[in-house]
Amino acid sequence: LNLPLAGKVALVTGASSGIGQGTARALAQSGAIIVIAARRIEKLAVFEKELVAQGSTVLSIELDVTLPANCEEAINSVIEKFGRLDILVNSAGLMLLGPVQDGNLKEWAEQINTNLLGLMYMTRFALPHLIETRGAVVQISSTASRAANLNGGIYSGTKWGVNGFSEGLRKEVSSKGVKVIVIEPGVAQTELRQHITDEAAKKSIDTAAAKMRQLQPADIAETIVFAVTRPDHVLISELLIRPLDQD
Ligand code: NDP
Repeated sequence: LNLPLAGKVALVTGASSGIGQGTARALAQSGAIIVIAARRIEKLAVFEKELVAQGSTVLSIELDVTLPANCEEAINSVIEKFGRLDILVNSAGLMLLGPVQDGNLKEWAEQINTNLLGLMYMTRFALPHLIETRGAVVQISSTASRAANLNGGIYSGTKWGVNGFSEGLRKEVSSKGVKVIVIEPGVAQTELRQHITDEAAKKSIDTAAAKMRQLQPADIAETIVFAVTRPDHVLISELLIRPLDQD
């Protein structure tokens, strides 16, 4: 059995669904002790059972990344329980597409607070522990961090922000042995689009997605496992992965 992450502790946000869940599964299969975090604890409970049945050591944490105190508590409970943190995967995110004109300010704030500030909070509180283990932080960004689409101004603003934050962080922590890894997936088959409230924007992206063989969470997860299992001196700082059929 090839277990390159045996003895390592990984925390994944947004682990109740989609890319976060697929990544947690893949990290667990590679031998990591896995901490799964999200708001919907009932989903985490079902997922925890699956992972435990496969022989993994799992901790589930109820977490809203928009609340700094919650983020700090989550990291503290990982350290209390396992004594270390090697990998943080920030996958919690929202994509509430819609035009800027007459835009829904509540949805703007939710996206910024989750995709950008939440990821920053988690990174900040995890950092002392990642420095101790010479670990890695994996940011789930998006192709939308490089090219904005119609109706995607706010979402792209958050993802551009993730990349800028991560590049600044890389300059700060590389010398301390911490790897900052930015993953930029294209269209993936998850719950993400289901939460869009602007009907025209939802229809437009659903129609585009239906025409392609979308990425599956497992496709993205295996690239993450690859990125976090490189030798100490090798940093995969940015990885763009898109469906072959995506423009
Ligand atoms: P999903 O909707 O399937 O998963 C999103 C996850 O984020 C859920 O587990 C949700 O859990 C969690 N989440 C949302 N808000 C919060 C919060 N405030 N606190 C904690 N957890 C939260 O979508 P994806 O898996 O597709 O999205 C994951 C990441 O991937 C996002 O950052 C997204 O932007 C990015 N991405 C997705 C692409 C796609 O096409 N699907 C393409 C490129 C990037 P809960 O509701 O239980 O809290």
